[in-house]
Amino acid sequence: MRYWRKLTGDEIRERVFGALNRNINYKERTTLGIPASHLDENVFNQDATYLKDAPFLSAMVRNPNHIGCHTLGDSEQFFAGTQQVERELIALVAEDILKGKPDAHDGYVASGGTEANMQAIWIYRNFFIRESGAKNNEIAILCSADSHYSMPKAGNIMNLPVISVPVDDTAREIQAEILDQKLEDAKASGIRCFIVVSNMMTTMFGSVDRVETYVAALKKAGVEYKIHIDGAYGGFVYPFSTTDEDLTFLNPEITSFTLDAHKMVQAPFGTGIFLIRKGWMKYAATEEAQYVQGMDTTIIGSRSGANAIAVWMILQTYGPHGWFEKVHILNYRTEWLCNQLEELHVPFYRNPSSNLVAMRAASIPTALVEKYGLVPDSHSKPKWYKIVVMEHVTVDHLMPFVEDLQAHLAGK
Ligand SMILES: *Cc1c(COP(=O)(O)O)cnc(C)c1O
Repeated sequence: MRYWRKLTGDEIRERVFGALNRNINYKERTTLGIPASHLDENVFNQDATYLKDAPFLSAMVRNPNHIGCHTLGDSEQFFAGTQQVERELIALVAEDILKGKPDAHDGYVASGGTEANMQAIWIYRNFFIRESGAKNNEIAILCSADSHYSMPKAGNIMNLPVISVPVDDTAREIQAEILDQKLEDAKASGIRCFIVVSNMMTTMFGSVDRVETYVAALKKAGVEYKIHIDGAYGGFVYPFSTTDEDLTFLNPEITSFTLDAHKMVQAPFGTGIFLIRKGWMKYAATEEAQYVQGMDTTIIGSRSGANAIAVWMILQTYGPHGWFEKVHILNYRTEWLCNQLEELHVPFYRNPSSNLVAMRAASIPTALVEKYGLVPDSHSKPKWYKIVVMEHVTVDHLMPFVEDLQAHLAGK
């Protein structure tokens, strides 16, 4: 571990306040040129005694703007202190979680998984246009039928077709023969460049795509491709619950990752993480962003530096071993739930490394769906209901659901 070690509350406070003190202090220095300031003191309590033990709230109040990408060199000098924390967070996730080589990645804290996926698609689209002379209609997004709706959203915004590969209804695995067929059909329609978004735990099933299935099919088809991993859901879970290294930077087929800290890490919303190997951010550079020091290679523009601090604080509070234990406790509870469902003969899907269980809707009465807040795959025609075993979902919370389900099935 190069960056990640468990820190005490004092160490974290010292680090965050140190970083904030290296940012511009609007109260002490006269800065006339930037359209930014601390939060409005008529509204937000800025009493020093109240904030002194609260590094995250202090960061909110000081309100640093992390506009741009800070792993590339030049960035806005006014917020240099907290940008350094973000740079460390990016390196921690790329190297200590996703096993990348030292100083070999760029990235930033995006608004969420949607933006991070879109950032990857944007970069690869521009790469194919610039380096392969492709036209927009020669490029497609390729992903599974269980992929998040941010891919069709990105396709719509960037005017790219989305090729959706069906998955097996029980195993939730990409159907390789149909993938081959889809690639042939796409080639016949003039598409020659593919932006693959492969899942590290899907939103509805927690299923994990085999990157190798895509690679084999794309090589066989003889087309150009780039692979992005959507770990918005699983990025902070799967690397800790598997020994498989396919979905890390050790896999040369993978160029970039999305991870969401506002899902399993319980960070504030606005903490999607985008990571990419060095040399690629330039395809998203907006040269016209001349008033921003270092310019801008992100989709979002202005964004709160407090978000990066929140994620950094959470990961450093747990440390790598604490985080490993946390994920394994969630998976232990999930295991418990799956054992109960098996005893009740309720069909379900679960990836053995995941804290998500999708149950066939036919076995679950609507009264229990409402009582326990289960989430369907489709609100109009539910085929599955999922349970996400989060921090607040303990075996003591799962037990009453299992008992109610048992009573329902016994009375049937
Ligand atoms: C939640 C999710 C997203 C989108 O993330 P937002 O943070 O809601 O934008 C993308 N992909 C997967 C797999 C997700 O679970």
